[in-house]
Amino acid sequence: MAESAPPRNRMVEVQLAGRGIRDRRVLDAMAEVPRERFVESGFEEFAYEDCALPIANAQTISQPYIVALMSEAAELKPADKVLEVGTGSGYAAAVASRLAGTVHTVERHEDLARIAAQRLAALGYDNCIVHTGDGTRGLPQEAPFDAILVAAGGPTVPDVLKAQLAVGGRLVIPVGDFENEQSLLRITRLSETKYAEETFGAVRFVPLIGEHGWAEDGTRSASNHVPGRTRFRSLPEMIGAAIEPLPDFDDPTFGGFLDRFAQSRVVLLGEASHGTSEFYQARAAITRHLIEKHGFKIVAVEADWPDAAAVDRYVRHRTSRGTRERPFERFPTWMWRNKDVAAFVEWMRKHNDAKPASERAGFYGLDIYNMRSSIAAVLASSTRWIPTPRR
Ligand code: SAM
Repeated sequence: MAESAPPRNRMVEVQLAGRGIRDRRVLDAMAEVPRERFVESGFEEFAYEDCALPIANAQTISQPYIVALMSEAAELKPADKVLEVGTGSGYAAAVASRLAGTVHTVERHEDLARIAAQRLAALGYDNCIVHTGDGTRGLPQEAPFDAILVAAGGPTVPDVLKAQLAVGGRLVIPVGDFENEQSLLRITRLSETKYAEETFGAVRFVPLIGEHGWAEDGTRSASNHVPGRTRFRSLPEMIGAAIEPLPDFDDPTFGGFLDRFAQSRVVLLGEASHGTSEFYQARAAITRHLIEKHGFKIVAVEADWPDAAAVDRYVRHRTSRGTRERPFERFPTWMWRNKDVAAFVEWMRKHNDAKPASERAGFYGLDIYNMRSSIAAVLASSTRWIPTPRR
């Protein structure tokens, strides 16, 4: 556990405090709970990346920033009694258990609930009780709660949950008309009959499925049924809702637009047109910004490896192979042998010029379309690693 403390502290500092989480108790709780113990086996190295990760039953362990945001919004206090709906991996419940007196957490998938309970027990978080069932009904036998955290997105705020809040209690829940698109709401119970509602911005959660959430088929469930309303949208509708206009490349706001990716290890740039000049220019401008301002050093392109290696030698000022290299002479030539890519390659070479060899950004191909030259290039670059045959 000690080994993961530095990445965990870095996550707290950069992804949480750096993005506006202010509650010291929440930051300390996030620094205490070992997230690597809640991710699926094989995902440990991503435990402190600020992203949701897949868990069993096609569900997710929530993104650390969202767990912190929800915990902060719920204003958890040491003596609070808390209900969480959507145990998932058990991680958010573990964080809440460091902040509150008792945490009841409900999961609809029995397997997830069982594994989460084992993880929480192994860590000694014994103020955290896992239940299996439909959390949209709340937990009437344990109500009232000082705070209710719902970790899945529903079509409406279930009245049943509001009714299980103590006066002064806070319900934090993602609500939206479509799957994967919700607003994070905080409902505060002001009196027996009055509630206040605040919004904490756009979020994306898996669907809240149950009597007062979505039905399995995507329609609204019985208590909030609206004929014809489903949580699904067509692909063009989803693209339309997700796209953001890109400023002009020479616009001073262009860089700021990309700074949200500064901490990412990998940024994927893709498109569907496979060949417009506008796309190549946009891709080059984005890549230049990430290299220049955020220290990215690998440009990995969907192109033949030996061809990209020739470009790499040029941009990193390395010795050419001697033969006259003419990369990207095979299909699809237009993708790489075009003016926009040439200008970007020249920019990389110039950018690298003043840098020591270890700091130069490289250009690498991810594909091996050209089998013959790929084999030759692999053999040429790997001969020194071939082990001595066993006797
Ligand atoms: N808090 C979790 C964590 O830290 O790993 C992440 C929860 S995941 C985003 C949402 C969870 O809500 C899923 O495990 C899903 O099965 C569960 N869920 C959805 N609808 C539910 C319901 N009606 N009752 C209980 N759990 C529900």
